[in-house]
Amino acid sequence: MPEPDDGHAGLGRDSLVVALGRPQGPGAPLNVGLTPNSTYRFGGEVGYGRDGNPGWAALETALGALDGGDAVVFASGMAAVAAVLETLPADALVACSRVAYHGVRVLMKEREQGGRLRVRLVDAHDVDAVAAACEGASLLWLETPLNPLIELVDVAALSAAAHAEGAAVLVDSTFATPLRQRPLEQGADLVLHSATKFIGGHADLLLGVVVTRDRDRRDELVHRRASDGATPGVLEAFLALRGLRTMAVRLDRAEQTAGDLARRLAAHPAVTRVRYPGLPDDPGYELARRQMSGPGSMLAFETVGDADSADGVCERVELITSATSLGGVETLLERRARYAGDAEAGTPPTLIRLSVGIENVEDLWRDLEQALAPLRH
Ligand code: PLP
Repeated sequence: MPEPDDGHAGLGRDSLVVALGRPQGPGAPLNVGLTPNSTYRFGGEVGYGRDGNPGWAALETALGALDGGDAVVFASGMAAVAAVLETLPADALVACSRVAYHGVRVLMKEREQGGRLRVRLVDAHDVDAVAAACEGASLLWLETPLNPLIELVDVAALSAAAHAEGAAVLVDSTFATPLRQRPLEQGADLVLHSATKFIGGHADLLLGVVVTRDRDRRDELVHRRASDGATPGVLEAFLALRGLRTMAVRLDRAEQTAGDLARRLAAHPAVTRVRYPGLPDDPGYELARRQMSGPGSMLAFETVGDADSADGVCERVELITSATSLGGVETLLERRARYAGDAEAGTPPTLIRLSVGIENVEDLWRDLEQALAPLRH
């Protein structure tokens, strides 16, 4: 079911985010209402609150169509990650990109220590190394752009390599959103998003989603959600769909600002490196042009000095908020090597990840300039 089949075929993606997942028919409300129920009268499709909810269904219709598959929503991105891992057979081998969201790496390590899975970490930039790591593996776990280095990996090439070894491929596409990247079309079997980020877009909810074209995988994920109780809140699903309505305009604006800030940061004397796949000299530039329909609104930069110098930048920002997370209307920044897991994975000590929001670009630049100013001397 790659394209929506309810009269929306042929629409632009910026129309789809507005139109999908709405009740139809004369007198229907425009939005699916909140249905906070734990149980239902016998005789219907859903008997209990863990099995389904009209709000989840509306959100799944929209997110599934955007990524070109069937969507299953979960209580958070991590609940979605855990559900996928739980569908694997006991002692299954997972080949996982060495750089990935640290929560995912921690969860994999714990599953490995508990004897549930075996994990092989691999440099996902190296297709031959990935092919070798996929020997005997059930799943290849990829993320692109990678958190927090904002590097890209080649979904088509890596999917082909994994499939040749019999491994399925998952792409965590959180940083790209379904509007900038469609991994299922590039060969992936599963795509995952932390909908907490760009899809919700307002830093007011936690939610995750997995999209696949394989009905059996979808059914297994629905079963896991119900069995493990990894169910999204009714309000969260409502807010995520409301957030989705404006994702195209939010992302267009934030991406334009991100490009502008990336160029200005690259010319700043206190900045030693900018990582943004929209910059022509970025190592991910060519791949971004092939694989993504835009470079997105996540960037990272490294500063002169040491970790304390970069921490000072994070402390001095005023309009920008020093906080973790990303993908909301508000610009956030954080020094990622503050987390032991990211430092161990080789994140440069002064790397500051910037999630660009929708504020005025000149206001954001003034804020960055004043925060960077003491580092010039
Ligand atoms: N995947 C990526 C790339 C993330 O950045 C995050 C959270 O930051 C997650 C997954 C986990 O999502 P959540 O925080 O919604 O559980």
